[in-house]
Amino acid sequence: MIDYHLHVVAHGDRPMTVENILAYCGVARERGIREMGITEHDRYLDDVDLAAFQEARESSQDVALRLGIEIDFVPGNEEEMDRVASALPYDYIIGSVHRVGGEEVDHPDHTEIYEKWETYDLYEAYYENVRKAALSGRFEVIGHPDLIKIFRQFPDRDITPMLEETADAIAESGVAVDVNAAGLRKPIGEIYPARDFLEMFHRRGVPIILSSDAHAPHEVAAGYDESLKLVRDVGYREVVTFKDRERGTLPL
Ligand SMILES: [Zn+2]
Ligand SMILES: [Zn+2]
Repeated sequence: MIDYHLHVVAHGDRPMTVENILAYCGVARERGIREMGITEHDRYLDDVDLAAFQEARESSQDVALRLGIEIDFVPGNEEEMDRVASALPYDYIIGSVHRVGGEEVDHPDHTEIYEKWETYDLYEAYYENVRKAALSGRFEVIGHPDLIKIFRQFPDRDITPMLEETADAIAESGVAVDVNAAGLRKPIGEIYPARDFLEMFHRRGVPIILSSDAHAPHEVAAGYDESLKLVRDVGYREVVTFKDRERGTLPL
């Protein structure tokens, strides 16, 4: 199995040393993860220590290491996104929407955006950004594609057409979707994406990665019992992998 979206430096919590990377690998090995991808947030790019990563990759036993990055997709920020995307020899790049109109939608201490916007409009704006991210051609993977549900703020109207349109754009773009178990640790208490959204992806042949979005070693592969059950129930039989921007597959 793979865990393809996680953070060692996280929010500046620890340096990217060989020892710290191998601590994540140790948990990964115990939990049956064969390939682990480190995807720091773009704003911590300067903390990514390529030499430490390469040394850890050499010495890691049983767990193959991949290097990615999680780029915060913000329309208008193309120059900076391109700078980050070309800074290091990544195996793949995750594009994630965390913001609407420049404001974060997932910050536990700053939820003002949910007061300012009518929820349906906020969802519209959020999914418009997700579609733009997919169609931008910058990313191999779209991270946690329904993050906007994090605080259980739901529109009072049906959002199925919005989700269908987003699944169409993602299928058209050819990117993979991040089935991310971090939602289980948030107020929403469920995986990103929700089952009905994942079914839309499956019907369109959109490939998936699996991830924990760990920000500490003990979170590696956290929630995988539920993730594996969900993706298998929906009908997925494989995940995609990346090396040097080339896609492979692993059976589930
Ligand atoms: Zn994210
Ligand atoms: Zn993340």
